Amino acid sequence: MSFSTLGLSASLLKAIAEQQYNKPYPVQEKAIPALLAGKDLLGISKTGSGKTAAYVLPALELCQRKMEKKDRHVRVLVMVPTRELAIQVNEEFAKFSAHLLTKVKNMAVYGGVSINPQMMSLHGTDVLIATPGRLLDLVDSKAVHLSQVEMLVLDEADKMLNLGFKDEMNRVFGLLPAKRQNALFSATTSDDIADMQKHLLHQPVQITI
Ligand code: AMP
Repeated sequence: MSFSTLGLSASLLKAIAEQQYNKPYPVQEKAIPALLAGKDLLGISKTGSGKTAAYVLPALELCQRKMEKKDRHVRVLVMVPTRELAIQVNEEFAKFSAHLLTKVKNMAVYGGVSINPQMMSLHGTDVLIATPGRLLDLVDSKAVHLSQVEMLVLDEADKMLNLGFKDEMNRVFGLLPAKRQNALFSATTSDDIADMQKHLLHQPVQITI
């Protein structure tokens, strides 16, 4: 199996080669075609499995397919538990978008730092990576609008729940359009994860790595 059989465009394949990813990891082999086909996804997989590229690559491909310059809005929302993960995921988006024909703007927002610089940089963001609390602060200040999100990714959903973000996450879900694609990644399963998957995911492709 090679990355070139998964349905990704040449500009992404070039960035993948530059990262010296020679072949897809199992989670990528399964998740990338499913997400490109518009399906919902449930990924039970740990850090180290390659789950980040498994959603970053299809998210960028979908941005490319749909993006018209005059129509800029948050299209992809990635929710993460921590500032560290937000920064790391943002870097993955930046690396893989290096050769895209239409420029994609990705940005990470997280708590523990001043909100003002984030507010001022958000304009024109296509892909937003956010921790739940800061995301809601930015929504409440009208710096972020979530009404046109097309793809929602929950990364380390179990950790977000363990950190007590359940109410914030539910509030965010209520702000999203009903018609959208969803991907939920979690290292572990629990009643709360099962609940969330029931409410969020529509006939998901399930991957356990
Ligand atoms: P993740 O589970 O997304 O945090 O990825 C774990 C590590 O594996 C990261 O350092 C990635 O850069 C690396 N990685 C992900 N996919 C591949 C791949 N297909 N080939 C080589 N390295 C990869």
